[in-house]
Amino acid sequence: MPAPLRLIESSPDLPAEADAVVIGAGITGSFAAYYLAKRGLKVALIEKGVVSGEQSSRNWGWCRQQNRDARELPISTRSLDLWERFAADSGEDTGFRRCGLFYVSNNDEELATWAKWRELAVTMGVSTHMLSGEEATTRAAFTRQHWKGGVFSPDDGIANPRLAAPAVAKALLALGGTVHQNCAARGLESSGGAVSAVVTEKGVIPTRLVVMAGGAWASSFCYQLGVRFPQAAVRQSIMAVATSGLALPDAFYSKSISITRRGDGCHSLAISGRARVDPTAQFVRFQRQFLPMFLRRWRNLSPGGIEGVRSGHEQVTRWRLDAPTPMERMRILDPKVDPSTIRLTRKRAAALIPALADVAMVGSWAGYVDSTPDGVPVIGEVPSVPGLILAAGFSGHGFGIGPGSGHLIADIATGAAPIVDPDAYRLSRFDSGGAIDVAEF
Ligand SMILES: Cc1cc2nc3c(=O)[nH]c(=O)nc-3n(C[C@H](O)[C@H](O)[C@H](O)COP(=O)(O)OP(=O)(O)OC[C@H]3O[C@@H](n4cnc5c(N)ncnc54)[C@H](O)[C@@H]3O)c2cc1C
Repeated sequence: MPAPLRLIESSPDLPAEADAVVIGAGITGSFAAYYLAKRGLKVALIEKGVVSGEQSSRNWGWCRQQNRDARELPISTRSLDLWERFAADSGEDTGFRRCGLFYVSNNDEELATWAKWRELAVTMGVSTHMLSGEEATTRAAFTRQHWKGGVFSPDDGIANPRLAAPAVAKALLALGGTVHQNCAARGLESSGGAVSAVVTEKGVIPTRLVVMAGGAWASSFCYQLGVRFPQAAVRQSIMAVATSGLALPDAFYSKSISITRRGDGCHSLAISGRARVDPTAQFVRFQRQFLPMFLRRWRNLSPGGIEGVRSGHEQVTRWRLDAPTPMERMRILDPKVDPSTIRLTRKRAAALIPALADVAMVGSWAGYVDSTPDGVPVIGEVPSVPGLILAAGFSGHGFGIGPGSGHLIADIATGAAPIVDPDAYRLSRFDSGGAIDVAEF
């Protein structure tokens, strides 16, 4: 089933032309379109399904600095401020709150990793507190267990995946931008060696600037342009339970389960990192580069099935611009929930948190998490296609940094001073065939 989502209306007509066309209305594309429009550009946001129908509505909603790889820490810090500023500037509600994130563990190695991460974080001005066993146990009284330790990051928070990207798209409309749903971008036209238009299923939009923020579909779109973008997606499953009136935290992590308040009388429950790998032709194409990542994460991964092929997002075939593409056959990636993960999540939740033993499940859904080989996104210009900016591969943590990513895309597009150094996000880092520096978290 799809995750709960606020639906918004589309603009009536495609524009005759645009200063910028953003392809993909997840959190990344929506914020990119918003920040471009704030700079006075005429922006069209193109979405093959509905705004936020894929990963951006299916996640936990964590907006964290805690345990971020060093390459993503500055953008996550900036994003927290931008979440707040967006609400103040637009009047739209993303559900963002700095409620703090709370982690517990009984594993010495895990606690040592968090303590080591803290050494880095404090040098970058991030506030995070290691908790003693007593502090962690007191704070996690709802688990009725003793914990060896934990960590609390007070400045981090959560936003509501049901509301966030639609709120940003609404803000774009208020700035004069347009939003086009059920409108797949099939490809690009070029003139004089640079992008000159986006070809959509509903017509052509002349433009000199395109942002490809297509999430799990980005690599197959790049393939049409002869651009090699190593990307792979794994399928994660998550459930929501009714928790009104229960004394539970907003955001809590343990290796067993994580829980997050959803803002609609529910909490989502999930097992961090647990996923199915559904083999596809694209997966085979890039498997060598993903080997270090899969070796690092194999404990949480298990083989999937034909779901990836059925979904059609990982194509290594060329499609025509004048005929329906795989994207029009799969408007919204809504992969099958893994029943064994849901059963295990329920069982672990009941064992860990007595208050969750008898709560009703209100829904469960799955999402394809798109990743790069090193677990760090690509955000930057594609050198071989002047006028195209690629922003994808957010590797399971792109929701929280959505505002910073969107801002950075607008910076790159307009030649403004970048909000953070974009060097770590270059596509070309995967060209050399050199060692892959896999993100720790
Ligand atoms: C279960 C789960 C839990 C997660 N938890 C967190 C978390 O707590 N915190 C966090 O930061 N991140 C989390 N993530 C990851 C996060 O959801 C993603 O990194 C983020 O949402 C990616 O956003 P995006 O906009 O890049 O992609 P998406 O949200 O996938 O959006 C891409 C959009 O592009 C559209 N599209 C693609 N191609 C085309 C085309 N050619 N034409 C038109 N439209 C197109 C798609 O339909 C889609 O709507 C989680 C993910 C999952 C699945």
